[in-house]
Amino acid sequence: MKQVVSLSGGKDSTAMLLMLLERGEQVDEAMFFDTGWEFPEMYAHIDKLAKETKVPVVRLHPPKPLEYLMFDKELTRGKRKGSHGYGWARPNARWCTTQKQTVMDKHVKSIGGGSVAYCIGIAADEKRPLIDGKRYPLIEWGVTEADALAYCYERGYDWNGLYERKKRVSCWCCPLQSLNDLRVLRETHPRLWEELRLMDKYTCNQFRIDYSAEQLEERFAKEDAQTSIEWPRGDA
Ligand code: SF4
Repeated sequence: MKQVVSLSGGKDSTAMLLMLLERGEQVDEAMFFDTGWEFPEMYAHIDKLAKETKVPVVRLHPPKPLEYLMFDKELTRGKRKGSHGYGWARPNARWCTTQKQTVMDKHVKSIGGGSVAYCIGIAADEKRPLIDGKRYPLIEWGVTEADALAYCYERGYDWNGLYERKKRVSCWCCPLQSLNDLRVLRETHPRLWEELRLMDKYTCNQFRIDYSAEQLEERFAKEDAQTSIEWPRGDA
């Protein structure tokens, strides 16, 4: 039976792939869905994994660029019929994640469908819905998120420090990431932050329900100004 893994490149799917190999399990391919919005460190990580594990990494792409769906696609149904673009994802409307699942499912079907063991890297302590017919090795083995990260570090995979400052590593422009992860994005990847601000000028909805990108820029800049104030020392 063929066995494939869904490889986002994050700590959990990376640990799953490495642990499967370490346990002597066969892995026929790793499917990497390229949103086009991955961190540069993530692309480098995927290349390194492919080179070092020798597992064929199949790079899958959405049928149309996600930017097209986000800004330009004409909507033919629902309240926004006739308008363009899905806009930023929302917790209950992750259209970009749906693209990823559809493309990966289609690929698995093309290489054998039900006769393929399809592994997903969900950690034992994550609260995410599980889908029937898929395999969840980290849950089988009781591997938590912290275990997965520690394991990757031990094996020499460190994403050039991405996980040291960010709680989650997802698309750099994901509106569902935490405020702190956005603050880190602005500090560590200023060009991507500028691109995000530009994208927010052309979407049909604002970046987050609570903040536009410009409002976030104002907030973060204000925080920077406050933290750079040198308060008089009480022990002077
Ligand atoms: S990480 Fe965010 S932007 Fe990227 S596919 Fe998932 S929901 Fe969409």
